[in-house]
Amino acid sequence: MIIIMKPKASKEAIKKITCQIEEKGLQVHLSEGHEVTIVGVVGDKSLLGGINFEIAEGVDKVVAVTESYKLANRKFHPEASVVPVGSTSIGPETLTIMAGPCAVESREQLLETAFAVKKAGANFLRGGAYKPRTSPYSFQGLEEEGLKYMKEAREATGLAVICEVTSHHAIETAVKYVDMLQIGARNMQNFELLKEAGKAGIPVLLKRGLSATIDEWLNAAEYIMSEGNEHVVLCERGIRTYETSTRNTLDISAVPVLRSKTHLPVIVDPSHATGVRAYVPPLAKCAIAAGADGLMIEVHPNPACALSDGPQSLTFEQFEDLTASLRPYAKLEGRNLG
Ligand code: PEP
Ligand code: MN
Repeated sequence: MIIIMKPKASKEAIKKITCQIEEKGLQVHLSEGHEVTIVGVVGDKSLLGGINFEIAEGVDKVVAVTESYKLANRKFHPEASVVPVGSTSIGPETLTIMAGPCAVESREQLLETAFAVKKAGANFLRGGAYKPRTSPYSFQGLEEEGLKYMKEAREATGLAVICEVTSHHAIETAVKYVDMLQIGARNMQNFELLKEAGKAGIPVLLKRGLSATIDEWLNAAEYIMSEGNEHVVLCERGIRTYETSTRNTLDISAVPVLRSKTHLPVIVDPSHATGVRAYVPPLAKCAIAAGADGLMIEVHPNPACALSDGPQSLTFEQFEDLTASLRPYAKLEGRNLG
């Protein structure tokens, strides 16, 4: 349920309502916009008994929120959220570009990539130190050693750094080195991991599960937010369909659908969506036109020798060409690209 206050509702009227709700053991989420304040109610509504908020002082109207996700719901927070990450932020004014290798393979590989993607206009360095591979015999990541290189790359370039976490232990370690945690597609409904990420104290990028509906995805975001972490960004990375020409099928319609359902920023990962380097640039453009707040792109100094996801990784030159070609698209959408 949300209680929409009148444009000139007094602070006292808002306070009275929030106290009444909290006294009944429910949580209040206040969204103070330019015009109106919205009081979001989280918890079991039946505990409110017969209180009729419609007739309370300063109230314009009461609207039921039927979706099970509340904090992630656009009705709770009508303005698009801006998520601050390190010295940068993800939101409607910028086109965030997260770029880097699938896996951190060595100090040299990571630093070289960090400088190259920074030069081309990226504002984030991505790199996996814990790799959830389909086969247990594939390269599993450098773990803490990889995180140390991420931190070094951040200090050397000023880029914000993001790394996937796959366990409670990985979260505890990663928060010491990176600016943002990534929950991968395979863990989107690992609810214990989501709760831990909600307590980590740094922003979280939540990728869409391989076969997850948008509502399941938003409920996963709610798990993180309900632990007190409002800084969640969603990443569409393709879903499983019957089509085999691409690794997954990029659900571009998820971008405008999410825009209407949630205030959280949305980015698109055309690399994992397609698995094919040549398809990354056209889908990156498509994502910007659909309204995405950013892109995640895999880049490697020598994709032919990459320990994972080489076929979808761009060379430095291809990435530089890509960002140059994206600038006019970003401008058209009123976004700055670094
Ligand atoms: C990744 O970003 O490295 C990754 C494994 O992606 P996803 O979880 O989308 O498969
Ligand atoms: Mn990858």
